[in-house]
Amino acid sequence: MTSQRDDHASLRLADARRLIGEAIEPIADTEMVALDAGLGRVLAHDLVSTIDVPAHDNSAMDGYALHSGGRAVARADGRTARLRVIGQALAGRPYAGSVGRDECVRIMTGAMMPSDCDAVVPHEETTAHGDEVEFPREIRAGQHRRRAGEDLAGGAVAIARGRRITPSDLGLAASIGAAMIPVVRRPRVAVFSTGTELRSLAQPLEPGSVHDSNRHTLIGMLARLGVEAIDLGIVGDDPDALEAALKHACSDAIRADAIVTSGGVSAGDADYTRDVMHKLGRVAFWKLAIKPGRPMAFGRVEAVDTRETRGALLFGLPGNPVAVMVVFYALVREALLKLMDARVEPLPCLALICDAPLRKAEGRTEFVRGVAYRADDGWHARIAGAQGSGNLQSMSEANCLIVLDHDRGDIAKGEVVEAWPFEGLV
Ligand code: AMP
Ligand code: MG
Repeated sequence: MTSQRDDHASLRLADARRLIGEAIEPIADTEMVALDAGLGRVLAHDLVSTIDVPAHDNSAMDGYALHSGGRAVARADGRTARLRVIGQALAGRPYAGSVGRDECVRIMTGAMMPSDCDAVVPHEETTAHGDEVEFPREIRAGQHRRRAGEDLAGGAVAIARGRRITPSDLGLAASIGAAMIPVVRRPRVAVFSTGTELRSLAQPLEPGSVHDSNRHTLIGMLARLGVEAIDLGIVGDDPDALEAALKHACSDAIRADAIVTSGGVSAGDADYTRDVMHKLGRVAFWKLAIKPGRPMAFGRVEAVDTRETRGALLFGLPGNPVAVMVVFYALVREALLKLMDARVEPLPCLALICDAPLRKAEGRTEFVRGVAYRADDGWHARIAGAQGSGNLQSMSEANCLIVLDHDRGDIAKGEVVEAWPFEGLV
């Protein structure tokens, strides 16, 4: 699977993405879920419409339905033509009778077009005279008429497989009557933090210890991605404990498709982590050409349980809290989307005018916490607080990550930079 690269070479972000992408087999298990439970899930098969949407020709406006070739436009004598109103068509209550060339029907938006009519004249373009209505000179065939199947023809693909179902997809699926939809099984992603200094929220802090924040950030990001996160707690810096935790994640009890860990892959810890991971599978230790977030382990681990050998992808992220988030967004997110068999779309990207000059080393991708804001001359980025890779406060203050490309040098004030926004529409 993963190429066993020289641990000391610096790996371009783009190369790491490619190597990870090549190593991932999408989950093939699918299940049917009730439509509303499908939000955020990945559609497993194309959803094909069995009906036309809309099902019938209908009116796009409130007004009068008539035949465009009728008497309303045939005014050779120059006199004002008037048509007699013979009934009304409401949404859900069609007008059933026939309509003559000198007649019209009051019609509301969404109401089915009467069978002899081909145009709708909006109410505000007409003048009523008792039970007759006067029309403007120009009436085009088909005006303000929505055709059956105009939004979606029967037999057409409404939503393509690989789509992560959005609120608008729920509406679209409902419009074709899909009560149940086929989705890919949600990946099970086990998460644990490594570090003897780490304490859970329930534990007091002694000198030298810190609360484990990464697990919470990771569980949050995984939840947003729509995978099932399984919290395996904290593992001390100890090879036996690490081995036991990885085996547990692969066991029948957990059945993880992927394991995401943080900490223990930097130079100080890498040796024993490497020994354990090499014992359990094929894992490469990378030095990514990015800042923050240099060290990372990626590969696959396996463990024999009572019944069978189970394997899981392994993403060993750096320990620094900001680096964890950066590597997750830059690499893990896309990898898990592949695992979910989702169509992978690049992160949405903003082009922002940078308010401050930035020092940037060529030969690595750098991520800067930014605040995108709107000014008179367009959207700007200011730099969010202290940029230390342990500083989550500035991560929390930021609303985007400014991404400075591998080959780029220093950035002058006023240059345009790209940024990944953290939040979108719900
Ligand atoms: P490491 O990569 O294990 O050397 O960790 C790098 C830095 O990140 C150290 O200061 C750790 O204490 C800190 N760190 C590692 N894991 C966590 C965690 N789960 N929560 C908070 N800080 C962490
Ligand atoms: Mg550590």
